[in-house]
Amino acid sequence: MQTIRGFRDILPEHITLWQKVEREAADLFESFGYREIRIPILEKTELFARSIGETTDIVEKEMYTFEDRKKDKLTLRPEATASICRAYIQHKLYASEPVQKFYLFGPMFRRERPQKGRYRQFYQIDAEVFGVESAYIDSELIFLLNELFKRLGLTGLSAHINSLGCPECRPAYQQALLDFLGERKETLCTDCKRRIEKNPLRVLDCKVETCREALKGAPTTVDHLCEACDDHFKTVRASLIRQGVDFKVDHALVRGLDYYTRTAWEIQTTSLGAQSAVAGGGRYDRLVEELGGPATPAIGFAIGFDRLVEVMDQLGTKGEEKALDLFIVPLGNAAMDLSYHWSCDLNREGVRTDTDFRGKSMKALMKRANKLNARYVLIAGENELKENKAILRNMDTKEQTDIPVDSLVTDLVNIFK
Ligand SMILES: [Zn+2]
Ligand SMILES: [Zn+2]
Repeated sequence: MQTIRGFRDILPEHITLWQKVEREAADLFESFGYREIRIPILEKTELFARSIGETTDIVEKEMYTFEDRKKDKLTLRPEATASICRAYIQHKLYASEPVQKFYLFGPMFRRERPQKGRYRQFYQIDAEVFGVESAYIDSELIFLLNELFKRLGLTGLSAHINSLGCPECRPAYQQALLDFLGERKETLCTDCKRRIEKNPLRVLDCKVETCREALKGAPTTVDHLCEACDDHFKTVRASLIRQGVDFKVDHALVRGLDYYTRTAWEIQTTSLGAQSAVAGGGRYDRLVEELGGPATPAIGFAIGFDRLVEVMDQLGTKGEEKALDLFIVPLGNAAMDLSYHWSCDLNREGVRTDTDFRGKSMKALMKRANKLNARYVLIAGENELKENKAILRNMDTKEQTDIPVDSLVTDLVNIFK
């Protein structure tokens, strides 16, 4: 049996980097008042169709959607924002406290064409803030990403930011864009020709070379912002500058999904030479209301966890491998019984201890102690036990000490304290 195409196992030998990222992220987010939320992996399909947008690639082609036995249409979550909004509305969290700050770690699912480093079950780190319209929260989220990536050792960090405007100023921009695209329609790819009808903004981030060429000189959202959006975006930029966050305004950044308003961003790193995106986010002030909640400004980001770990791995970053304090080598049945109980007693007292119950030879067990990186080994041999003692060996210095069986747990706890 094998994993499904586009899916993978993350084995214990690779998990330490994931854990390091999770620890750093949780520490940083919580110190800014964010709290962890966990939500289901499976939701009604309608939630994503309504939030992400019927005409996006995700909803049209990439979702894992199926009918369950009662013919309910269900989808494996392709992203977290919609589900977190659903939870915010369902539990009326706005009523208990108008400002809510969340973070989340977890798998998402999209049936994309499998390619190197892209998985159909991929992981994201999300943060979302509800109830704050102020531009300072946009800056805070971008600052958080920048700070987290710096702590994780990434270099060449730069935020690409844009403002997509609001329902006030979007229509005028949309018209200017349509006029521009109308003159160049013949040079655009077939996808873009279709996008002009359904969501012209998305033509801007087409990756096809001829489209990129045709879009040079296209009108920008930033030039069409209403006064409120313009002020908002100015505050974002000014507060990023003041905190030393490197950024550039990127007019082509529209972030695909229908629900974004005002600030949208991506964080790029040049840690591995070429520029690559490791996180993206944006404001979605209308989504909560569109999903049936009260009008609530909201904003969030997602970090590509798989990509981030890959970058850190290639940079040679190591996770924290917690070594054992002690590995007990039992020789003979009586020793095995003692070892089991010593191991439980020592772990109860906080000494990280493991042992082995296979009745293997001294040589085999010393090999295992080495593999486990144990700092000390306790040899419980038949002859030693007859003399009411066991031998403690320091694996670094090879120094050996006799430990009396009667006071063994207390003595070892004192040594490892
Ligand atoms: Zn506006
Ligand atoms: Zn195109």
